[in-house]
Amino acid sequence: MSAYGLYLHVPFCHHRCGYCDFNTYAGLEGLIPAYVQALCREIELLASSAGRPLQAGTVYFGGGTPSLLTPTQLETILIKLAECFSMEGGVEVTLEANPGTVTLDYLRQVRSLGVNRLSLGVQSADADELRFLEREHTFEDVQRSVAWARAANVTNLSLDLIFGLPGQSLAGWKRSLQAALELAPEHISLYALSIEHGTPLHARLLRGEVGSPDPDAAADMYEWASECLVGAGYEQYEISNWARRETSGELLACRHNLQYWRNLPYLGFGAGAHGYIDGWRTVNVLSPAAYIQRCQSGIALDFPRTPATTHIQAVDRVAEIGETMMMGLRLTQEGVQASAFEGRFGEALETKFGRQIADLVAKGLLEWASAPGERLRLTQRGRLLGNQVFVNFV
Ligand code: SF4
Repeated sequence: MSAYGLYLHVPFCHHRCGYCDFNTYAGLEGLIPAYVQALCREIELLASSAGRPLQAGTVYFGGGTPSLLTPTQLETILIKLAECFSMEGGVEVTLEANPGTVTLDYLRQVRSLGVNRLSLGVQSADADELRFLEREHTFEDVQRSVAWARAANVTNLSLDLIFGLPGQSLAGWKRSLQAALELAPEHISLYALSIEHGTPLHARLLRGEVGSPDPDAAADMYEWASECLVGAGYEQYEISNWARRETSGELLACRHNLQYWRNLPYLGFGAGAHGYIDGWRTVNVLSPAAYIQRCQSGIALDFPRTPATTHIQAVDRVAEIGETMMMGLRLTQEGVQASAFEGRFGEALETKFGRQIADLVAKGLLEWASAPGERLRLTQRGRLLGNQVFVNFV
């Protein structure tokens, strides 16, 4: 039985940060109790329509700010998941949390519920940058949250940082990353700031109140960070992600996200959540109120559709191949394995994309790892120009 990734979206935040374009809402926290009931209903309806037992390999509470859910609300959802899915064999359970929304007692309680991975949105160690991003926490909140997480026996901790802010200096970025590394996380994710249309930050950019991010400066920050993290004992395994190895030798990569990058099936629950299973991609209604209403009054539908589904699309072979290449090439070590590709699609990788591969290898953007013809991956330079590479396969 394949193990699925289960994503649960929690679309609530105390405040909407100026750069954020996620499906999340401030001021709707009053909906949370009904939303938790709706999530449980969607889980139940989807599992009952599957007609087969479903196994969970990972559970990921993402947002929004999932740490706005109380331990009791998280427990209600986890109990429902355990009723509807087989959860044997070390399921990774991640909770995204904002520093400033957690306490030692909260972390102890969620840890005892089975949350075994915590992902903290740090973004920066610089007070001015945190203000620019409209984050509600300080770096002192981050330090306290990490200390509490360790006291609560969280042994798999991930920190997220953003670089490439308008006017950010390389020296400032170095200070932020070094401050984050002093907290000794097992995992670290680094994202370049992208100013998305429709966000308040984009409106400020149009009004000339803030400058544009400088892509060359961001590339320098990324290159410096890659070297710094490797020097600090982290291994890069994805364009934006680094992890330490356990003493057992296991790389503490995010198993849930590996499911996406390997283009393997997952189920999405909650407002705006996406799923990919049995050759179908599904998208749920965005509005939390509409989500609650649909789940409350809904009945079981043909799998994998639920009452919250607004879009469902069959993924044909051409699209699946393109997505497998685009996602797999994000994995900087693993890349796309030629034998796995052939096993999945019945055609050799070099037969399907011989011309594109030869061209991108000649340009120094792709390379064969291990031995020629074994694993195709981005070169160091290719990591900076991923989109130019991916477009050749879709
Ligand atoms: S905390 Fe995260 S999800 Fe919430 S508004 Fe800020 S960036 Fe968006």
